[in-house]
Amino acid sequence: MDSRALFAEIDRRLAGLYGDPRLDRQEPLSLLVRTILSQNTTDRNRDRAFASLCNRWASWEDVLSAPVGELAEAIKGAGLHQQRAQRIHAVLQRISDEQGSLQLDFLGKLVPADAEAWLLTLPGVGKKTAYIVLSMGFSLPRFPVDTHIQRVATRLGVVSERADPHETLAPLVPPRREIPLHLNLIRLGREVCRARRPQCADCPLPDLCPLVLDKTDPQLRSALQDGAKLQVLVRHTGGTSTAYPDRRGLLALLSDPQTLYVEAAPAAAPKEAL
Ligand code: SF4
Repeated sequence: MDSRALFAEIDRRLAGLYGDPRLDRQEPLSLLVRTILSQNTTDRNRDRAFASLCNRWASWEDVLSAPVGELAEAIKGAGLHQQRAQRIHAVLQRISDEQGSLQLDFLGKLVPADAEAWLLTLPGVGKKTAYIVLSMGFSLPRFPVDTHIQRVATRLGVVSERADPHETLAPLVPPRREIPLHLNLIRLGREVCRARRPQCADCPLPDLCPLVLDKTDPQLRSALQDGAKLQVLVRHTGGTSTAYPDRRGLLALLSDPQTLYVEAAPAAAPKEAL
């Protein structure tokens, strides 16, 4: 299966499991500030910091007029607050200087490549942030890649560790599937394909995943889907053992870092004729 077909299949299975999440279009400048606050912190901290900022000031003009130290104090919950406050202030100042008002609606009148290029000139704004603003604020076909998506896509062998994940993944996303696939991959990464210990037994993609397939005897691959119980030999860091797992048990064995390889147990030798 080529990467485009693989990504389409991943999208289809995740939509079957998680549904087809959509987002209402969001106000672009709020989205931009919220995304700057989300860099290298949890969603909870980001939401707390953004709520604190909105509670303290009634408009972006008020935020821009406030001393940067006060802004930093307000967003303390997100961490790196001094740096983030300076960034947010610089972004607001730049928009105000160039547009004469604090809004990003002008981006909707540019061709998408120019809107993207402009966003990328802002301090602290990379592709992920720019693509979030363009896809969720302007409904443009951009696929933002966060740390969860990058990890899942790397494990699935769709993107290599050294490649730019935005460049690699953008052409693989099925048309008009940017937002639901983005949200579903993040959910898979948070709930199942976790950074430390992926829960492959709960994953809808094990038969597509090299992390699982590389440890699985080709004779056992159908069991990853059909769930038949099989006698297996497990080669692990401590030696070899036998097991008789169902599909979940087999996947639990395969996602165990101690497991090196699982193969079909040799068929029992026929009893000698008396
Ligand atoms: S099978 Fe395991 S490692 Fe592969 S994508 Fe699913 S959870 Fe992640």
